Amino acid sequence: MKTIEDRLSALIPQSTLELQAYQVQDASEFIKLDAMENPYHLPEEIQRAMATALQGVSINRYPDPDCKQLKNAITHLWNLPEDLQILLGNGSDELIQLICLALAHDQAKVIAPHPSFVMYKMIAKFCRLDFQAVPLNSEFALDGPAMLTAVQQCPRSIIFLAYPNNPTGTLFDEKVIRQIIEASQGLVIIDEAYYSFAQTSLIHLATEYDNVLLMRTFSKMGMAGLRLGILLGKGPWIEQLNKIRLPYNINILTQIAAHSVLAHWTEIQSQMESIISQRQLLQEQLSSIEGIVALHSYANFILFQPKTVSAQACFQGLKKQGILIKALGGDMDSYLRVTIGTPEENLKFIHALQQLM
Ligand SMILES: *Cc1c(COP(=O)(O)O)cnc(C)c1O
Repeated sequence: MKTIEDRLSALIPQSTLELQAYQVQDASEFIKLDAMENPYHLPEEIQRAMATALQGVSINRYPDPDCKQLKNAITHLWNLPEDLQILLGNGSDELIQLICLALAHDQAKVIAPHPSFVMYKMIAKFCRLDFQAVPLNSEFALDGPAMLTAVQQCPRSIIFLAYPNNPTGTLFDEKVIRQIIEASQGLVIIDEAYYSFAQTSLIHLATEYDNVLLMRTFSKMGMAGLRLGILLGKGPWIEQLNKIRLPYNINILTQIAAHSVLAHWTEIQSQMESIISQRQLLQEQLSSIEGIVALHSYANFILFQPKTVSAQACFQGLKKQGILIKALGGDMDSYLRVTIGTPEENLKFIHALQQLM
């Protein structure tokens, strides 16, 4: 008699059996500074507008498969160049998956710096693609020669570059990114998940080069619960990727809710600005604690390293005081990542950390 385990190992690829499902820490009752969420509620005016808009929704009908209204609003919001088309995903995670599915091939490979966003590797694996991590240098900058070698060795590479990078918060050098794009026969995806906090963008590269796509998300700007990712690229790329997208991947509630938020953007914008100024403050406060080394961040989180106690002890100590941050683990296990919260949350975090050090 076959056990269910026998059946699984006979049927499911080894690379999938070896994966662990994406882990999310239980955060109820904690000050939640672990997941790069916007700490602020939706302003009341937007809540009301959204509630009104959602009241009239026909959920008995399939949603607009092309999300035309929402795409127009996004084009307007970011004043997008005319030669870029939009593909929307159920979070940018879905867009990463779409790209991997579309380009999956025996000789294809996903290449990303390390450390970077963990989903690049995970999605590559379950799309049956090889994954190659190219270590960042000691300053967490791109190792140009190593990236070029990796890219040149694989003509069908799918290269993910997060700008700013997660978990380091750093911006990679545009010159090195251009070298990678120019050396690559494959596709380069610039992931601007933290665009709103970086105050800079590489969107011009998606216009300039035929092998570059640009990705953004609404998650980090206060809509993580809606699940809306945005991929920008030249028409022919978007046309091919769109064939693989499931027809109604953006549900009607997300379409309408996101549209209501976009119509009141100045209020979201001011939340982003307050997070940026809180980041600067937190950065100074972290650096002034003896025994803490904090990286300069362009995102809504800060990577730091406690030098006098272990990162694990620091993480647990904060947790005991009701503050949840992220312990990176693996070869980054001496580092911790804290998401910028409200001024009150940040103050509690800094006080708790001072006591621990
Ligand atoms: C959070 C994050 C994403 C995923 O965003 P979703 O739109 O919520 O799926 C993508 N890329 C990077 C670098 C991230 O940190």
